Amino acid sequence: MSFEDKLRKIKPYVAGEQPQQENVIKLNTNENPYPPAPEVQEKSREFVTDILKKYPDPDIHLLNAALAKYHGVDESRVFSGVGSDDVLSVAFLSFFDSDLPILFPDITYAFYPVWATLYRIPFTEIPLDENFRIRPEDYYGDVKPNGGVVIANPNAPTSIAESAAFIEDIIRHNPDSVVVVDEAYVDFGAESVLELTEKYENLLVVRTFSKSRSMAGIRIGYAVGSPKLIATMNAVKQSINSYTMNHITIALGVASVEDESYFRDVLAKVTKTREAAKERLRAMGFIVPDSKTNFLFAEYPGVPGEYIFTELKKRNIYVRWWPKERIKNRLRITIGTDAEMETVYKEIEKIIEAYKNR
Ligand code: PMP
Repeated sequence: MSFEDKLRKIKPYVAGEQPQQENVIKLNTNENPYPPAPEVQEKSREFVTDILKKYPDPDIHLLNAALAKYHGVDESRVFSGVGSDDVLSVAFLSFFDSDLPILFPDITYAFYPVWATLYRIPFTEIPLDENFRIRPEDYYGDVKPNGGVVIANPNAPTSIAESAAFIEDIIRHNPDSVVVVDEAYVDFGAESVLELTEKYENLLVVRTFSKSRSMAGIRIGYAVGSPKLIATMNAVKQSINSYTMNHITIALGVASVEDESYFRDVLAKVTKTREAAKERLRAMGFIVPDSKTNFLFAEYPGVPGEYIFTELKKRNIYVRWWPKERIKNRLRITIGTDAEMETVYKEIEKIIEAYKNR
């Protein structure tokens, strides 16, 4: 066997483009168009190089404590990481160590199958129904044993949220597996199951600062779960890299959590623009499900998604499109500012007109 045969073969997750040129309307990776809280901006200017000489706190105590206070839970129930991608990756490695397949939908966050493959975790992708909804019975571990369950709620890229009672039903039917609920977009209007982490020791809820807190660039995500789950994650993390989160990130994360009113203001702005965008796109002829996220999952019957995607890109407008059979006519459009959205509607109208007149 050659050394090449021993290299890991993995098809990586493909992140959305990060165009570096100026004057781009960037609606392709679900960032927030508004700046983070004023105190975050202030603090980031304050940092002197002195602090950078020293290692940061491997326990990320200040941020975990701020998040624990924010959610009214004990600090032993919080785990912070470098974006929720890091938190989810540690969760997969921590909880899914059996020969039974873990379960998640066929249309969901495309990173789940990548981690499962990388960590050699068997998995089954369960088709969403024809309306892109989860069928809860498909995930009942007490009927058919599984190695774990991962549900994004709201789901991405569909933007559809299920109720807390709906998610609890799946948790209740899985007493013998860890259930991970990825709530990356929950702040934009969905019901959370975070409180249920007190009731179910096998439930982990994952959140991020990347969307609702306008901090995708700093990389903060966290999880809330039972002390047993959090201790397992800490043991795994400490077996890979103790100092995952740097000093600056920890301080800026705390500053964001402490400014509740700014947070609420930004959420109100984004959700207002989202509802207006949904109506506007529907009026243009798009099919758009109700969204509880900061993006819309839109399809224009008769015009290929790839065509609109490519034409928008020529105009420096970036949205997301996937060459995947069930969703290949859909575009995922992140909600930008009102001014950005106006430009998007105008350009989409022109693109559709041009396609029809070919
Ligand atoms: N979960 C879901 C459902 C997402 O859409 C994303 C964004 N790509 C993430 C997790 C990861 O976000 P981040 O690592 O920036 O916290």
